[in-house]
This record gives sequence, structure tokens and C-alpha cells, in this order.
Amino acid sequence: MPRVAFLGLGAIGLPMARHLARPGHDLAVWNRTASNAEAFAADTGARLAATPAEAARDRDVVVTCLPVSRDVESLLGGADGLLATLQPGAVLVDCTSGDPATSRRMAAALAARGIGFLDAPVSGGVSGAEQGALTVMVGGDASTLERVRPVLECFGKKIVHCGEVGAGDALKAVNNALLAMHIWGTAEGLVALEKAGVKAEVALDVINTSSGRSNASMNLFPDRVVTRAFPRTFRLALLDKDVGIAADLAREQKITAPLLQITAELFRMAHTELGQDADHVEAAQVVERLGGAIIGGRGGAG
Ligand code: NDP
Repeated sequence: MPRVAFLGLGAIGLPMARHLARPGHDLAVWNRTASNAEAFAADTGARLAATPAEAARDRDVVVTCLPVSRDVESLLGGADGLLATLQPGAVLVDCTSGDPATSRRMAAALAARGIGFLDAPVSGGVSGAEQGALTVMVGGDASTLERVRPVLECFGKKIVHCGEVGAGDALKAVNNALLAMHIWGTAEGLVALEKAGVKAEVALDVINTSSGRSNASMNLFPDRVVTRAFPRTFRLALLDKDVGIAADLAREQKITAPLLQITAELFRMAHTELGQDADHVEAAQVVERLGGAIIGGRGGAG
């Protein structure tokens, strides 16, 4: 097993890193807010690093999982950056749901020093990360992927080589744009049905054995919206970022994609309205407010 550093112990990074901290593995961790990394290191026995460079110094593989690609890029430069610290032959595996252009820029800067790069965003959510059952979509050299595969297999059940650097990012963004469309569309349909006198429980029961079903209708709405639980597992701000990347991709490829563009606008609006800490499923509350009904019928929508 390669020597690994994990940078970014956030909502999904932390349960991913936990699988790399198994007995017999050599794991170093760093997190911007040191207290989170301290707690993780105390709990798992991983080596605690005070800086990204200290975490990465003697490592074969560095895994990053930060909000956006630019956050990862900001760790590369300077005397104490990853470019100056990583040894030739090492690989940076970026599990951030990133943007292809920044990934390509990072890959080129690292390649100039003999360091490999893979964009390797994940899907499956926090529960998938806890179970070690994520899907990992990888962009970059197939041979580099084979070298780091044992690391990815610690938290990933399905590991897919998608193409050149940036391909994993592009696919992840499109997947999440579909998630966003399903959340918004399901919310609009259920608000309309509530107002027409059809209860959400009845509507979801039918939709979920019919052709309109999705992960949103089968899991997110029954578990989080109808119950009003709205647990915070994946920030709306991050989904807004993902839909924006997918909309940019469509523009760059010069395709007509009005649904992607409007979904990007809707999620930017919801993010602005609900703030940095809101969960992605809370976007349904914006649809409820606009429509004047609560999905599940509890209380008034103001
Ligand atoms: P969180 O906001 O929960 O955590 C972000 C992490 O990045 C924290 O460790 C945070 O440190 C750190 N961080 C934030 N900004 C910087 C910065 N400028 N420099 C260094 N570190 C920084 O995000 P998630 O863990 O939810 O998401 C991480 C990535 O994974 C995102 O790209 C997201 O889209 C993707 N993702 C998330 C999923 C989910 O279900 N949550 C599912 C699939 C993909 P600090 O503790 O100091 O705030």
C-alpha cells in the first residue's frame, strides 16, 4: 500500500480518509481548520500534519478533497507548496468535484516536475463514503490510475476511467446537474400536486413505481423533504458550483442546452437565498416559497 496523505477532512473527505486510516496503512492528514484533523488523528492514529507540505513530503500519493479546484491549485505554489514538496513519481489524486480547465492546468504544472495528476471526483454521498462504496470517476493516464487503484479501492466500489485529465470532472458535473434538475423538477411537480389536492405521500408512491422516478423522488423527497428533516450532508453551494461547471461545459462545447443553463440560474438563485450552509435538498424550499405550498402539507409556505 502506498504512503498516502489526505488533505481536506470535510463532510465527504473525512469518511473517505477514515478508510485510508486502517491498521497497517501509513496515512498523514491535514485540514485547514486544525481541530478537525487533530480529532481525526487522535481517533484513527493517522499522522497529523501542520501544513499541506508537511503532510505530503514523503508521500507516494496525495489525495485532496476541497470545495473547488482553485482551492487545490492554491496548495501547489510557493516554497512550501505541493509542487516543491512532492517527489517525482508521486501522484496527486484530486477527489474534489472540480472543473476541467483548472485540472488540466494543475496536471501540466505537476507533469513538468514528473508528478502525476488524476481528477477523481466521487459520487455516492456521505453514506456511500462511510460504507466505502463510492463511485470514483477518473480523468488522466490509465497507467497512473493503475498505480493508485489500491488507494481508490479503499473508499471506492466502482472506479471508472473516463478519459483524459478533466473527463472525471466533466462527468461528475453533468451527473450533479441531473441531480439538481431532479430536485427542482420533483419539487415543482409536488407543489403543484399539493395545491391540486394530491398529497405528496400519494404522489411519490405512484411516481416511484412509474417512469418519472429518480433518486430525488425515491430517496431525497421521502426521507428529507416530506419529513422536513433536511439533514445537512452536501452543501447547496457545492451543487450550485457543479451545475455551473456543467453549464460552462455545454457552452464550451457550443451545444444548445437551455435546461442546463436555466438549472444553473435556479441553483445560483437558491444558493444566494439560502446561504453557504444550506443543504442541496433545501432548494425544494425555494420552490415551495415560490409556489405557496409545502410538500407534505405541514404548515404554510409563507
Ligand atoms: P465541505 O464544505 O464539507 O468541506 C470542505 C473541506 O475543504 C473542509 O475540510 C475545509 O476545511 C476545506 N477547505 C475549504 N476551503 C479551503 C481552502 N481554501 N483551502 C484549504 N482547505 C479548504 O465540503 P464536502 O466535503 O462536502 O465537499 C468536498 C468536495 O467533494 C466538493 O468538491 C464537493 O462538491 C464534493 N462532493 C461532496 C459530496 C457530499 O455529499 N458532501 C458528495 C460528492 C462530492 P475547513 O474544515 O477548514 O472548513
